[in-house]
Formats: sequence, structure tokens, C-alpha cells
Amino acid sequence: MFALKLLTTNQQLLQMKFLQALGKVFRNLFAPTNFKCLNCGRDVFDDTGFCPDCTKLLPFNNGKTCPRCGVGIDGEETYCGHCAFEKVHFDKAYSAFHYDGIIKKAIIKMKFHNLGSYANTLAYYLVYLANKHQLNFDMVTFAPMSKKARRVRRYNQAELLAKSFCEILGIAPPVSTLVKIKETTPQERLTRSERKQNLVGAYKIDADVKGKVVLVIDDVKTTGSTLNECAKVLKRAGATAVICLTVASRKEKIPFELEDNQ
Ligand SMILES: [Zn+2]
Ligand SMILES: [Zn+2]
Repeated sequence: MFALKLLTTNQQLLQMKFLQALGKVFRNLFAPTNFKCLNCGRDVFDDTGFCPDCTKLLPFNNGKTCPRCGVGIDGEETYCGHCAFEKVHFDKAYSAFHYDGIIKKAIIKMKFHNLGSYANTLAYYLVYLANKHQLNFDMVTFAPMSKKARRVRRYNQAELLAKSFCEILGIAPPVSTLVKIKETTPQERLTRSERKQNLVGAYKIDADVKGKVVLVIDDVKTTGSTLNECAKVLKRAGATAVICLTVASRKEKIPFELEDNQ
């Protein structure tokens, strides 16, 4: 079990050491002279990946969130529309940002503009989340892509994020636990009932997860259905708990129930 929980003892000192070590890793990963702001391209001389002006624009997910899936909520509800009405298979999910503004732009570039290297920096924010919530887990994995999608993009951004996450923390590399065996329609184009159907039988287990607490990494949580299906398959294969980390999540739109009638 990776012992991030150690931070609770002698917390301040350990946190300081942790951040120092993190800074060192980042300085090694990126030579300052060719490290550019992910948003505007200006030189950046610290570990954040964004220049001071763009850092002010980061849509941090620091307000009210759903206690189950970590998505930002604006209304009075305790749980988001998904967690309130659907069976949730993961135990917890956390996102560093709302899927909006300059983060949305950076993620789109990472996925569709052949800029997989952005994952090195964005993974820093996953480490920040794991530290903030003092997560304990036995193994790290990532949301899989279908073979066809992987061939087109040539990389899986979730896998790149997971690899960088493990490198920054100095822990064992991620394990490929799931295989996507069915081509699916992008979830955001579907209604709620179609989304469920779309993912049925989409994933197959490909590693021994029995008795393990599994940390699943992905870039964005939009409807949550992908991570939920991954968690279902992992749990059926014997995982004792599934925790999900994403760089960003789409803020809850209330009332999302309307989607079904459109
Ligand atoms: Zn900038
Ligand atoms: Zn939720």
C-alpha cells in the first residue's frame, strides 16, 4: 500500500519534504529554458505548467463538490444528478479542475493536437489531489482506449497521465488492468439511458486486481459513466475499492434529467 497517509504524522515537515522532492522531480523533467506555459507559450520557471497570468485563470474545483464523485455543484443538492440517481461503482472520485477555460483547452490539445507531452505537467495536479486527500492505494491504472482509437491517436492520454503520476511519486508504474473491447459512441452525445447501454460489455479485465485498492486515472470525467463502468469491471474482478482521479470534470448541469427527453 502506497503510504501517502504518512503525511498525517508530523504533517508539516513531511509535506514540506514532499513538495521539495516534487519540485526536484519537476526541475529534472523540464529544462526551464524550453518549458513553456501550456496556455500562452511563455517561458515558465516553476513546476506549475502555467505562467503567473494564466495560473490566475485556472478553473480550480475548490467549491462545493459531490461527496461521491467530486464534481462541482452549484445548487442546494448534496449529491450530483448522477450519484443521486444511478448506481455508483467507484468508491470516490476527485478532479482538480472544472472542465472549462484554459484547462479544457490544454486537455483538448493533449488529446487531439498530438501534444501528449502535456500529460507530464497535468499529472502534477493529480499528485496534488492524491496528496490533498491523502489517498492510499495498491496499484495505479488508467481508463483504456479501444485498439482502433489508439491506432489513430498513437497514445492514450490517460496512460501518459498515469505514467507521469507514478514517476513523480516514485512508485511502481501503472498497470494496464482493463481492455476496451467494443467501439463506443462518445458518451456526451448520448442520453442517459443510451450512455448505459453504450458501455455494456465495453471493458474486459486484463490483470489480477483481487484484494487490491485500485486508483484509476483519466483525463476528464464528463458524465462519469466511463469511470463507473471501469470500476464495475474492476470490482467484479475482486478489487476491494476503486478510486478515480481526473484532471478535470464537467460541472454538474441542473437539471440534467432533461437530457433524457431531448
Ligand atoms: Zn501563460
Ligand atoms: Zn456525484
